Amino acid sequence: MPVKKDDSFAAVQKQLQRIVGMLNLEPEVYEILKEPKRVVVVSIPVEMDDGSVKTFIGYRSQHNNVLGPYKGGIRFHPDVYFEEVKALSVWMTMKCAVVGSPFGGGKGGITVDPRKMSQRELEKLARGYVRAVANNIGSEKDIPAPDVYTNAQIMAWMADEYSKVKGYNDLGVVTGKPLNMGGSVGRNEATASGVMITIREAADAIGLKLSEAKVAVQGYGNAGSILATLIDGHGSSIVAVSDSSGAAYNPLGMDPKELLQHKKETGSVINFPGSQTLSTDEFFAVDCDILVPAALENQINEERAATIKAKIVAEAANGPTTPDADEVLTEKGILLIPDILCNAGGVTVSYFEWVQNNYSYYWTAEEVAERLENTMVCSFKEVYNLYTDQCKCQTEPVSMRDGAYMLAVTRLADAMRVRGWLGHP
Ligand code: NAD
Repeated sequence: MPVKKDDSFAAVQKQLQRIVGMLNLEPEVYEILKEPKRVVVVSIPVEMDDGSVKTFIGYRSQHNNVLGPYKGGIRFHPDVYFEEVKALSVWMTMKCAVVGSPFGGGKGGITVDPRKMSQRELEKLARGYVRAVANNIGSEKDIPAPDVYTNAQIMAWMADEYSKVKGYNDLGVVTGKPLNMGGSVGRNEATASGVMITIREAADAIGLKLSEAKVAVQGYGNAGSILATLIDGHGSSIVAVSDSSGAAYNPLGMDPKELLQHKKETGSVINFPGSQTLSTDEFFAVDCDILVPAALENQINEERAATIKAKIVAEAANGPTTPDADEVLTEKGILLIPDILCNAGGVTVSYFEWVQNNYSYYWTAEEVAERLENTMVCSFKEVYNLYTDQCKCQTEPVSMRDGAYMLAVTRLADAMRVRGWLGHP
């Protein structure tokens, strides 16, 4: 049973309240974090190729900026809705705090199916969105980036439109841009590279050999397909992958590059030669060591969690696990790498891109990779150590997610206190 659409935001509020209580922090910390500071809702009329005009609804949620300008992706998807964008913006605040990026949390989206639009229509939509939110974004205010069904080309149109509105080039207004327009080397694969580093650290922590691991990846887009290629490079076997059309399974393993080619040619990973097609429920129950949800929210519910055989669940997607499922995974002793840590490689290299734009001085691939490696390894260790320490002193079981939230909320509360947001004792 999929969870109700508006559950993600209520769930993250509950999680924040719990963590503020566990840390014995001032109640004001929760009061400030429980709602976004601002949510902008805009309508974007677009002249379609057939001459008709269609109006799309867009959102930008700015959750919290105590640590720096708002930062977070823009999603183009038919299911984008108000409460979802709010939840995604809270997760961005937490994510930036976990990895120590000097940003707050924001997220945007447009309710649209981009797969049914031409490139011309998409360009008009992207530019229209930017004109509608131009007063709310900027390289010192709020910096969007790619997310589900948006990419470097869409970021280029957005940066160009913003620069036109302002009358000067502000390339740092969005990240994830193409290389010839102020993008950073390594940004396209950054999310997957970060996921890979956290999986490597987690496997090391539990004594799992990547060269012998069986992997299942849900979602074969930017995050999922690149991760599959990276982990294949460690000798792991990709036994199952899925996209919005279904799942392909082969216990003997599948070549991730051939899978991508097959998806390009046929529009989906299903019917990959030698594979069997599975339903989503069957996909989650496959025999594997590492499960990587890399699609959308609320994919792992209580029932699916009960069937998972993996030793590690690496949340490349944002919010793929419901709170009930979280409890099941914790009870089963599965090591979960929470989204706010696992997929933070994307925002980390976005931060590097923004720094490079501000300086107009660009780094080498080696510099980006080395800094990403340091950030992800250090953040993983901080969360893992907090988690294992907490496990020793709490009577209730704690999860890696709790550890990550504890780290983030402590940093946010410290910044709020020193900025005078929590009042006087
Ligand atoms: P993408 O648009 O490149 O790919 C999304 C993939 O998910 C596609 O293959 C699509 O077919 C698949 N999908 C959609 N609905 C599905 C369903 N119901 N079941 C199975 N597959 C489905 O998007 P992306 O950028 O790879 O983002 C994937 C996830 O990673 C999202 O949760 C996103 O928020 C998160 N994320 C992305 C980035 C980034 O830098 N792109 C950074 C951090 C987190």
